[in-house]
Amino acid sequence: MSDIFDKIIDGSIPSYKVYEDDNVLAFLDLTQATPGHTLVVPKKHVADIFEYDDELAAQVLGVLPKIAQAIKASDKHIVGLNIINNNGEYAGQSVFHSHFHLLPRYEDDGFDI
Ligand code: 5GP
Repeated sequence: MSDIFDKIIDGSIPSYKVYEDDNVLAFLDLTQATPGHTLVVPKKHVADIFEYDDELAAQVLGVLPKIAQAIKASDKHIVGLNIINNNGEYAGQSVFHSHFHLLPRYEDDGFDI
């Protein structure tokens, strides 16, 4: 079954791409909780982290630091960054294609986590 992130991955829904390789796509979240809020998703359709095998874990988790570093380097006002990964409806997941939120933080951004 195709979900909204599958459509972003295949290009049928537009997105602002931040990073792409053979296995992973990163793009700006539609709802910018803070400026630069980015989602990192595996191209392989897995609903959540409970479906990862070691290979997929290495592919997705392995790129998080360099994407986080690129986001931080893009704006001198970024003073921190949260990585958030919701798994399951009860954990706040709303799109059931696994994804990691990279949330840049700014002084006095008022974001309460
Ligand atoms: P979750 O609540 O599942 O952890 O996060 C899902 C995220 O996907 C939300 O932050 C939401 O704004 C984002 N999102 C939902 N639909 C779209 C879309 O069509 N394009 C983009 N770029 N982000 C989306």
